[in-house]
Amino acid sequence: MTSSRIVYLNGDFVPFAEAKVPVMDRGYLFADGIYEVSAVLGGRLVDNAAHLARLDRSLGEIGIANPHDAAGWERLQMELVRRNDLVEGLVYMQVTRGVAERDFAFPPAGTAPGVVMFTQAKTVAANPLAEKGARIITVEDLRWKRRDIKSVALLAQVLAKQQAVEAGVSEAWMVEDGAVTEGSSSTAFIITREGTVVTRPLSTALLPGITRASVLRLAAEADLRIEERLIPVEMAYEAAEAFYTSASSFVMPVIQIDGRPIGDGQPGRHTRRLRELYLDLARAG
Ligand code: PMP
Repeated sequence: MTSSRIVYLNGDFVPFAEAKVPVMDRGYLFADGIYEVSAVLGGRLVDNAAHLARLDRSLGEIGIANPHDAAGWERLQMELVRRNDLVEGLVYMQVTRGVAERDFAFPPAGTAPGVVMFTQAKTVAANPLAEKGARIITVEDLRWKRRDIKSVALLAQVLAKQQAVEAGVSEAWMVEDGAVTEGSSSTAFIITREGTVVTRPLSTALLPGITRASVLRLAAEADLRIEERLIPVEMAYEAAEAFYTSASSFVMPVIQIDGRPIGDGQPGRHTRRLRELYLDLARAG
């Protein structure tokens, strides 16, 4: 984090140290807000239209008026990228229900949403973990019933990721009724011994991953078979390959789940190909 870091706060681009959020912001008190994250590669936003569409949908689902249209958001994102000289990393956007005296019910009509945006420099393309492959664990999914909404209420994911860190691995796949829902901050995929790419169908049980949608399209174009179905944990253990996807990790090979090697314990060949295809897409902007 450089001293010249600039963030966006409610209409202004301000130095990081001067960006202050009021105590009564409902994002802070109730996690009453929505967020979105787009990757930046070569100074360009990746899959951004889909991220902005999901932001609009999530806001609509909890009754917060979207303060900007897609073109408006993208202008702010690009201005933030420019002001922070960001070449590779992430742009974070958050909209809360605004600032009002603490009360569970919605604040008075006309209360302005709180908007915060910042960038994070990060190596997303040449990530050494993608060469090595990630080890992961499974944990119980402790979340609420509307996981399709990208809410800032992330306590269950924070606890899941901390369990992963304490286990010395990179990600936790959350499990409900014996089947994987998704990663703490990613979508879960396996590839069967027959070469079928498998991921859970969309529902309120998981976030509709933007990278998931692109990877499924790329897999179809590469003539891989695709099946959207539940993945019991035992099925994941026996997979030929496994990986997870997100805006910040793209396509991340998984080489071990709960201490059991996946396939030959190396990033799988279809997975590596899908990562390359996604990188091509991302670089093309
Ligand atoms: N599931 C969860 C719970 C996540 O937090 C994320 C990361 N935003 C994803 C899936 C992956 O979504 P995306 O590909 O849109 O980043």
